[in-house]
Parts: sequence; structure tokens; C-alpha cells
Amino acid sequence: MSDLKREETQMGMGKLIVLTGPSGVGKGTLLRSLMERHPELYLSISATTRSPRLGEVEGKDYYFLSRSAFERMIANGEFLEWAEFAGNLYGTPRTAVEEQIRRGQWVIVEIELEGARLIRKAFPEALRIFILPPSLVELEYRIRSRGTETEDAIARRLHRAEVEINAATEFDIQIINDDFEKALDRIETVLFATAMC
Ligand code: 5GP
Repeated sequence: MSDLKREETQMGMGKLIVLTGPSGVGKGTLLRSLMERHPELYLSISATTRSPRLGEVEGKDYYFLSRSAFERMIANGEFLEWAEFAGNLYGTPRTAVEEQIRRGQWVIVEIELEGARLIRKAFPEALRIFILPPSLVELEYRIRSRGTETEDAIARRLHRAEVEINAATEFDIQIINDDFEKALDRIETVLFATAMC
């Protein structure tokens, strides 16, 4: 058992929550509202080699890195997990997450499927939630209306979405983001109901 695991078990407080779901499903919006309702939760900020979208802020939405800086962090073991998604690298910086869990915080990581699978190995007791779209047609509509991706990137994201949706049953909980408020309520219930266990 690692020091962190032992400490986590002894304290019985810190917790890791993994939120996964296809690009465009609305994870980001759900998370923003969840964080407004529960500022005591700690949201992990990922690093990525993707370029910032309009309005995205360094250190708030992501740490935007060059590929070489990202690869240096991989080599130094600075990621809890990382994965390539639609041509870019994404990773969860290790230190902040481990530190917060050690302090007894509930930490949320919003990551794609491969990263979620890696986390499962390192943190088998993490709570893993998968957000589903009402349909693939609706998902494509949502990605297109965002207007931030090229045709090529949209195609890659949609292809990846099918793979991810097929893996939804690997997760502890599946939530359909059809009605935003209902999906948000359901995430809250799942989080705070499992706190009693
Ligand atoms: P986007 O480019 O739309 O912000 O994110 C693309 C995908 O990368 C999303 O599915 C998002 O959840 C995932 N992602 C964001 N940060 C991380 C991370 O740190 N690790 C992994 N594995 N995936 C991430």
C-alpha cells in the first residue's frame, strides 16, 4: 500500500471522483455548476498541448503546454495519468491531487476514457461517473454548436465518442445529460449519498 493510500484509508476523508464522458456531452458546464454549489470540492486542473479556445484561461481551464514541456513532465513522472486525445496530450498533474486528498479533500478529475482506466488501477476506490449524451445525433449537434473545432477535429471527437460510450458500463454510475438540472442533481445525489457509505 502506498503512503498516500494508507493515509487516505486512515483518515477516511479524502476522495477521488473521476468524471468522464464524450467530448461535447456537457461535462464542463455540469462541473462549473457543481463547483458553484459546492466550493468545498477541489477541481484538478489538467495540462494539455491543445491550443486555448476563446475565453479559456491559463491555470483556470488548463495549463497550456508545448509538447516538449508536456513530454518533460511525463519523463519526470509528474502526471497521475495522461493520454492522447484527438491529436493532443492531456494529463493530470500528480502533486496537487495527492496533496489535496492527503488533506482530506474531495478531488474531481474530469478526464477521458484511457485516463479513467489508468486511474482505476492507481485508485481502485475512486468513484467513477460517466456522463452520456441523449443520443449521438444530439452530441454531434452540441459539438458543432460550440463552433470551436475544425471538421477534422469534430470527426475525431465523434469517432472517439462512440468508443467511450461503449465503455460507459465500466463506470460505477452512468448519468444521461438530457435535462441539465436533473443531471446536476443526480451527480450531487451520487456524490453525497456515497459519502455516507
Ligand atoms: P477538451 O479538448 O474538449 O477540453 O478535452 C478533450 C478531452 O480530454 C475531454 O474528454 C476531457 O475530459 C479530456 N481531458 C481533459 N483533461 C484531461 C486529463 O488530464 N487527462 C485525460 N486523460 N483526459 C483529459
